[in-house]
Amino acid sequence: TEGRRPLIAGNWKMNLDHLQAIAFVQKLSWGLKDVGHDYDDVEIAVFPPFTDLRSVQTLLSADKLSLKLGAQDVSPHESGAYTGDISAQFLAKLDVEYVIVGHSERRGGHGESDETVGAKARAAQAAGLVPVICVGETAEDLEEHGAAAIPVAQLERAVAELPADAEYVVAYEPVWAIGSGQAATAEQAEEVCRALREQLREQRGETEAAATRILYGGSVTSQNIASFLRQPDVDGALVGGASLKVDEFTRIVQFKK
Ligand code: PEP
Repeated sequence: TEGRRPLIAGNWKMNLDHLQAIAFVQKLSWGLKDVGHDYDDVEIAVFPPFTDLRSVQTLLSADKLSLKLGAQDVSPHESGAYTGDISAQFLAKLDVEYVIVGHSERRGGHGESDETVGAKARAAQAAGLVPVICVGETAEDLEEHGAAAIPVAQLERAVAELPADAEYVVAYEPVWAIGSGQAATAEQAEEVCRALREQLREQRGETEAAATRILYGGSVTSQNIASFLRQPDVDGALVGGASLKVDEFTRIVQFKK
């Protein structure tokens, strides 16, 4: 990981309403305090639904908690006639630091193209947020093209419009591994994460490629997290299901112990 600070990101998806979110974040942060979690050593971000963000923000600032806040999606537009969409500016005003773009559940369920994902990343970055750009191959892609080709092509298009030396995070999430209980092996994850970094090196230059954190996501648990983080090009994890269990998520972020 060559000096890149590991990031563990918890994607709640459409789970926990704002009251449950408050209870969850309190329990999580108190538990992390008990085990003496060093946030400078391993950064932690939670990605609640939009309707929870204000409540969680209030709690984090009132209690001076070191958890970072992320959102699960963002509009590519600044403002205007986009019913149901949420702008990057709105998120930035709620102390949101990260935003997921291009999750497979948005690419698949909402027909988001690579161009849309790129425009969302650009809008997020322009508002001072750090986009977490998700890429990953389906089981069919894997059979047809191997593991790396599709994620690399998705990444190339997603970062094309970002200014030089932009800060963003990449999340490699094989679609077949998400929510399936069938994680990639650490070697598979490393192979694709290495290819993604190589793409960034060619397209964006050595400095940005070396500074950018690349996460693995897909059925991460406390049992397999350490094996992923041992890989030189894996700089953290995007965690779905296991991020909704306080004890399990606490063990995951404590992967060094
Ligand atoms: C995700 O949806 O980003 C994810 C990785 O889910 P899970 O950990 O449940 O596979």
